[in-house]
Amino acid sequence: MLRKCLAALGVMTWMLAAAPADAQDKLRIVATFSILADLAKNVGGDAVDVGSLVGPNGDAHAYAPSPADAKRLADAKLVLVNGLGFEGWIERLVKASGTKAAVAMAAKGVKPRQMKDEDAHDHGKSDPHAWQSVANTKIYIANIREALVKVDPAGKGAYEANASAYLAKLDALENDVKATIAAIPAERRKIITTHDAFGYFGAAYGMQFIAPQGVSTESDVSARDVAKIIRQIKTQKIPAVFMENVTDPRLMKRIAEESGAKIGGKLYSDALSEPSGPAATYIDMMRNNLKEFRGALTS
Ligand SMILES: [Zn+2]
Repeated sequence: MLRKCLAALGVMTWMLAAAPADAQDKLRIVATFSILADLAKNVGGDAVDVGSLVGPNGDAHAYAPSPADAKRLADAKLVLVNGLGFEGWIERLVKASGTKAAVAMAAKGVKPRQMKDEDAHDHGKSDPHAWQSVANTKIYIANIREALVKVDPAGKGAYEANASAYLAKLDALENDVKATIAAIPAERRKIITTHDAFGYFGAAYGMQFIAPQGVSTESDVSARDVAKIIRQIKTQKIPAVFMENVTDPRLMKRIAEESGAKIGGKLYSDALSEPSGPAATYIDMMRNNLKEFRGALTS
């Protein structure tokens, strides 16, 4: 009997050892939102299993974590956060989860864009949407690579090679963004979006974004804010207003109706689309937004 048991145990051990690498063996990473998860997949490659707390089309500003999220953090080896005040809920969640995971801030070393004095309600805040500048995203990639090497030194070579390959793709993307925006007449490079998510893009590539809502989707928009935007659209001849995947479209529809500006397509600001959508990856997201800008501002 004992011998049979031992034999069975032996077979089981052999089966476990011979099982192909699956999610069980992979380094578990939890990113706070879908864009960061995509960047982590590109650096981690086959060695990692990346999940995202806030999913596609989700709003990370206003996210309410669940007990299941705490469990995911507890099971992770590495937690990736954007930082700059984007995920106001993450610190408490990390504490509540009791996780032993390393926590790394992807935006570490980015020069934060401070809100202007005139945005009194956002005074003193940093703009968290640093990934909208490709140059900043390269900093994210370096930070993710360092964080991965720290928790998994054996994977160093692979992480470095993956990061280099992805940085080359980001170089190509950055060149395309610069060339496309440069081809739009300067006086037409003005866009209205619901919340102020494109400040880094505007500063990096020479485009003006105006938003009735501040850098968080949680701020309220007053009738006065809306009236001000409508006046601005008319006096500055702003060609287009845009919907975002993470905000309520009704406000923009109203502004378009009352100002006569045309409605551009959907922009992806703080979250990717579903895998079958036009912004399933960071690079696709940037190319989708670029196509929408060009379409609305050059026709
Ligand atoms: Zn946002």
